[in-house]
Amino acid sequence: MHSCSTIERPNKRIMIPSAPILFRYPAKDKSGTTTKESVSEKEVVEEEKYICCAQCLHPITRPSDRIVVNGSHIHNFANPSGIIYEIGCFQSAIGCGSAGPTSDEFTWFKGFGWKVSYCGKCLLHLGWLFLSGDNSFNGLILDRLIEPD
Ligand SMILES: [Zn+2]
Repeated sequence: MHSCSTIERPNKRIMIPSAPILFRYPAKDKSGTTTKESVSEKEVVEEEKYICCAQCLHPITRPSDRIVVNGSHIHNFANPSGIIYEIGCFQSAIGCGSAGPTSDEFTWFKGFGWKVSYCGKCLLHLGWLFLSGDNSFNGLILDRLIEPD
């Protein structure tokens, strides 16, 4: 009985565990038995914040793409139906698509034609792409966008 694992110490465990590994990992620590693969990579990437589509949160443009056109970033325009749009001007809008021929009708920026711009993901109408020769910019309807912070 010399090899018996019973030790008597008042303040310690009486039994030396027969399975030390199990002893080392109490039942409450379930993560201790998971595989390496489950240790997910938490990528902490400093992403530039995007201004997103208000309907589907697709990244549309960036705050750094804001530009001033005719003295202002924000313009209020009414279309021929009387609907008033508040638009912001952006140099580029990577999340937007535009379609159709360029129109010169009712253009809000003299010398620029326009195409309709829509969300590249959910196709919500987000504004217009204004074009003049090699110049172009996006006029995006601000209440259809969600700005970061
Ligand atoms: Zn969208």
